[in-house]
Amino acid sequence: MTTDRTGILLLVSGPSGSGKTTLCRRLADEGEAIYSTSCTTRPSRDGELDGHDYHFLDRDTFEQKVTNGEFLEYAEVHGNLYGTLKTEVLSHLIEGVDVVMDIDVQGADQVRNSNDTSIDAALVDVFVMPHTEEELVKRLTGRGSDSQDVIELRMKNALGEITHCSKYTYRLLSNTREQDYHQFKSLIVAERLKLSRFKNH
Ligand code: 5GP
Repeated sequence: MTTDRTGILLLVSGPSGSGKTTLCRRLADEGEAIYSTSCTTRPSRDGELDGHDYHFLDRDTFEQKVTNGEFLEYAEVHGNLYGTLKTEVLSHLIEGVDVVMDIDVQGADQVRNSNDTSIDAALVDVFVMPHTEEELVKRLTGRGSDSQDVIELRMKNALGEITHCSKYTYRLLSNTREQDYHQFKSLIVAERLKLSRFKNH
């Protein structure tokens, strides 16, 4: 699909348990954007599919891709490496296709500082925030697939991530799933109207 405008890069961060992955996936499932599938060295969880949820790589393969300059950004999160391949993003933006990416606050800093004019023009960053700390604990423990140690590490990291919220243009305070998605989708719908995105404006 080619459009008369350049694509939007919707960058979404927020602590684990904020619901951001669900929002990103739904946007992609509804055909509003392409989901940028990240690479990771963490083991897959039950039900996760290689190539869909992540490209699951061993550390050597990941590091080789770093050396080859294949990543738009990468970071160590919760003790594992995560990164976005340039091929998941750049060509889509030029073709006018919107891309949604779910990455941590360190990766977001790198994307903001990428010095790539097509990224700068495309970027829309949003931080998804749980309503309260209690809600965050409930969501982190409710996933059921992670051990107590992992939950505690994620909680600590979550509170650290929240301190980066002020760097983002938009903040979405999580409420009900439907309300969150309505606001989230509204963002991309409004961004599509920006005159500067049209090739012949
Ligand atoms: P999870 O292991 O729960 O799927 O993800 C853990 C964290 O890694 C989340 O905060 C998620 O946003 C982040 N993450 C996922 N993919 C990437 C990526 O490609 N780059 C970076 N920097 N963070 C990522």
